[in-house]
Amino acid sequence: METAVTGSEESGVAEGPVEEAAEREDGGCEGLWELPVERCVRRAECGRCSRPQKVCLCPFFPVHPLKVSTCLYIIQHPAEESRVLRTVPLLAACLPGDKCKVLIGRRFGEDRYPELAAVCRNSSTLILYPGAEAANLEELALIFPSPSTIIIIDGTWSQAKDIFYKNSLFRLPKQVQLKTSISSQYVIRTQPTNTCLSTLECAAIALAIMEKNDGIQETILRPLQALCSFQLQHGAQIHHSKEHLLKNGLYDKPMPKNKRKLRRMELLVNNVKI
Ligand SMILES: [Zn+2]
Repeated sequence: METAVTGSEESGVAEGPVEEAAEREDGGCEGLWELPVERCVRRAECGRCSRPQKVCLCPFFPVHPLKVSTCLYIIQHPAEESRVLRTVPLLAACLPGDKCKVLIGRRFGEDRYPELAAVCRNSSTLILYPGAEAANLEELALIFPSPSTIIIIDGTWSQAKDIFYKNSLFRLPKQVQLKTSISSQYVIRTQPTNTCLSTLECAAIALAIMEKNDGIQETILRPLQALCSFQLQHGAQIHHSKEHLLKNGLYDKPMPKNKRKLRRMELLVNNVKI
């Protein structure tokens, strides 16, 4: 949702949902943590970020949580929570607790989530989910009242799509998308296209826009850059997007037999927005 959403395509933001996200190969870092470790020996963990001390990310977090008026609601698919490499904890570590709320689940009914329902009904709430109906956040932010709340769905494209369309609450807030051309820095997890962003990247960009402060984006992305750098030093491989691989003749997986999927891959190569 990684972006629903958030246009990045994990959470998707810049372009429409791409079902291929479901087929993404996320396995590049599998086993990474297990390599040098004996099961019976508990590794020393950092007390603050809960990561092994050797790869503690604390020096990359801001000393004090960022002062922001915008509140984020991260709607996280349960599968995302159990992943080894997740970006939402990095985001949460940069923000005050009351400005970054994480709700885990697939279905969010009004009865069980009255607070979320109230947020969705509030006219100052936006949901980051790309599509024809979505306004560009950059333009909307100029006229949108502050403080606002932004809902971001964290999961693969297909998970985010499921959450967005099967929960009527999420159709209530104004739908927005990021119109950005930046490439994801989250290089250790394959994104469907070059402009797919992780949930953390989407949140960083959205916050910088709403708060009119580019420094916010830089600060939030710092731990992600450090994480990717650590992982690469420890043997992870850079995952180029499927788009990059196809365009450069580096895609080494069997091509799909399904005609619809094949057509989608052709569209990726030809730079057509899906
Ligand atoms: Zn730490």
